[in-house]
Amino acid sequence: MTGTGGLVVVGASLAGLRAVEAARRTGYAGPITLIGAEEHLPYDRPPLSKAFLCGDAAEVTPFRSEQELRDDLGVDLVLGAPADGLYPAQQLVSVGDRQFEYDAAVIATGASPRRLPGADGVAGVHHLRTVDDATAIRDALDAGARTVVIGAGFIGSEVASAARKRGLSVHVVESLGLPLVRSIGAEVGSVCADLHVANGTDLRLGVGVSAVESSGGRVTGVRLDDGSVLPADLVVVGIGVQPATGWLEGSGVPLHERDRGVVCDATLWTGLPGVYAAGDVAHVANPLFDDELMRLEHWTNAAEQGAAASKHALDPASATPLAPVPYFWSDWYGRRIQFVGTPRADEVQVVATAGDAFTALYRRDDRIVGALTIDRPREIMKFRRRIAERGAFADAVEFATAS
Ligand SMILES: Cc1cc2nc3c(=O)[nH]c(=O)nc-3n(C[C@H](O)[C@H](O)[C@H](O)COP(=O)(O)OP(=O)(O)OC[C@H]3O[C@@H](n4cnc5c(N)ncnc54)[C@H](O)[C@@H]3O)c2cc1C
Repeated sequence: MTGTGGLVVVGASLAGLRAVEAARRTGYAGPITLIGAEEHLPYDRPPLSKAFLCGDAAEVTPFRSEQELRDDLGVDLVLGAPADGLYPAQQLVSVGDRQFEYDAAVIATGASPRRLPGADGVAGVHHLRTVDDATAIRDALDAGARTVVIGAGFIGSEVASAARKRGLSVHVVESLGLPLVRSIGAEVGSVCADLHVANGTDLRLGVGVSAVESSGGRVTGVRLDDGSVLPADLVVVGIGVQPATGWLEGSGVPLHERDRGVVCDATLWTGLPGVYAAGDVAHVANPLFDDELMRLEHWTNAAEQGAAASKHALDPASATPLAPVPYFWSDWYGRRIQFVGTPRADEVQVVATAGDAFTALYRRDDRIVGALTIDRPREIMKFRRRIAERGAFADAVEFATAS
């Protein structure tokens, strides 16, 4: 036995770090163990596909130094060491032959990129989740790689944007008819498609990938379903992620039948004594949207849930349901896309396009449930407030039209 009870946080990234910090901030003085699969100290992921890839940021610095974590926060760091089991009856987390006893545990293992069948192990084919992934992609862009991005999601689109900023040719291949149509709807998806095209990215919509072609183990191109081949030195696969919960299979932690994410109530509780979850790994009931289970892949969500999860795990009697308005941003071609709320709506209405700025609102029944803006950073927070207050859609449309 290595650990001696206390708080054990599994996953040393944003949600895990915030869990540790919140525990100390609220006065918890017992032992804390932070277990992470990566060798690195916790670092921020959004810059990986933005400033770091563009070359505007030379390196990725950790949120906190090892000294701050160990000495100031009193954290026992177990890095480069994936947890491989959680045993609720014994209140243990295992990492190889080591076992860490917990009184309270936070699961914050995030998500891993979905793989493209047949592409693993081909040099020049990458996913983008970690600083190591980003470094490999940046090296290829530095070398002037002809780039193909598979999947026109947010991260793939940011990679395309970084390549274009360097003046490189880039193709984005998307099997659906529009980018992001499932996540933000067709009306906004077509605006995102226009952004790619206006910035010189070759966007191939409604076509799948039949093979990644290679020679001598190195990628040479991407063959599409229509028979055409896009030459490539660098292929970035951005076809989504899946919750990193393989280590929890059979543990009794409830896992969602569709994607195996951890299922929690609105206080982040898994239903097992002392075990809470936070961040990209967690499906959480949200009372603001009729207790809809939401698994979000958003920075703000991971930070907020991480902090709440450790507080609730250490003091379950004080746990209160969270009812947040989800928020995310993405930067494409120098433009800032921001979204608040949920895109699951009866109607999406484009309400304002002034110059290059843009606003779309999402309606469910007569409520505003979501808003997306491009280059309107002040407005988006006003919509966030209206969504939190279950405001009327008609009022929000009037406000958007007037502003
Ligand atoms: C390139 C990129 C750009 C992004 N840009 C934006 C943006 O612009 N706006 C936005 O809102 N969001 C953005 N995000 C999303 C945001 O970064 C995530 O929502 C956030 O990182 C989630 O934090 P997390 O701690 O829940 O999970 P993660 O950051 O995924 O961290 C989970 C950690 O757990 C570790 N782990 C996994 N399995 C185990 C195990 N068995 N044992 C121990 N450790 C394990 C992983 O190695 C990882 O370090 C971006 C994400 C990426 C990858």
